[in-house]
Amino acid sequence: MSLIDPQDAPLIGTVGGQAPAAEQKKVLSFTILHTNDMHSNLIGVGPASEYSPMTLNDDRTIGGIERIASLIAERRKAREAMGPVLVLDVGDFSIGTPFGGATHETGAELQCLSMAGYDATTFGNHEFDAGPEALAKAIAAAKKAGHVPPILAANTHFDGDDPGLSQFKELAQAQLIRSHMLLERGGIRFGLFGMMGTDSIQFTINPGAVTFSDPIETARKVARQLRAEGADVVICLSHCGVREPKSGPITEGEDIDLARAVPEIDVIVGGHTHTFMRQPIIADGTPVVQAGCYGAALGELVIRMEKGERKVESYKLHTINDTVPGLARAIASHIAGDARPPFETRKEAETWMAAR
Ligand SMILES: [Zn+2]
Repeated sequence: MSLIDPQDAPLIGTVGGQAPAAEQKKVLSFTILHTNDMHSNLIGVGPASEYSPMTLNDDRTIGGIERIASLIAERRKAREAMGPVLVLDVGDFSIGTPFGGATHETGAELQCLSMAGYDATTFGNHEFDAGPEALAKAIAAAKKAGHVPPILAANTHFDGDDPGLSQFKELAQAQLIRSHMLLERGGIRFGLFGMMGTDSIQFTINPGAVTFSDPIETARKVARQLRAEGADVVICLSHCGVREPKSGPITEGEDIDLARAVPEIDVIVGGHTHTFMRQPIIADGTPVVQAGCYGAALGELVIRMEKGERKVESYKLHTINDTVPGLARAIASHIAGDARPPFETRKEAETWMAAR
């Protein structure tokens, strides 16, 4: 396995037709850590009163944002010497627990994603359950608290004249909600965009004046635009999903259609159908992954780029249970107004816990 120096100089001016500078250095790899459909499960799922992220092997809850934050920190540390690491969530981050009931005042889910180190998220259908004004309030609350990840929503439109969209427009102006973004990391220029699928759009019960354009048409347009803007790798945060058969491998679903219809997409990180994928689906050469739901798993996809080819090097779904120590400082330090960074490694977290 070849290594990439994460300190590589950023790419400048990728010329059409020429291999990107990053690829001229032969083999590169990058890692995507991902979740989807967390549905406000910030303190785990199960007998929630048992959730004790700071002590190990003594409760039966799964998930929990402190544990996810800790595992993200650990996997980032383990992978970053081999190339850039991206951390993505794929929507339906809110609604489902009492935290979801307060989200419009707190934006807690978005704050937690930001503090856990996520690079971006997208909308799922449930984000609109209480209407666009309430959703805009949640995002604004997270922004006010100083912790909000970019929300990528290429086929979500709020440009109508309806007064209910005014806060949405302000958030878009502040670049908190956008169609797509370029993220340059470790010598690779990533083009990221977010997408609501057809099924997800149909299940959006309270969109108000927000409208959604056709997923495949929009994805094609945005993916091409990202390529034109110099993206080496195009990644879709797709709240579309797959169809799970009663038995046998998954062969159908919107994410697979999307991969086939839009060859400009290199990786589809999916959500919406709550599918625990133990291995990626490769649809016309494009890997499609999804990490279940409720924060019960963290996906880890490693892609190797070699002479213009992108190949899956490995994939793993990490189970989030009480064997994963929680990163209390990610959340608690924020509440206490402590600006120190969270633990960098699991060992650091364990040492801290042992001293308590
Ligand atoms: Zn959904």
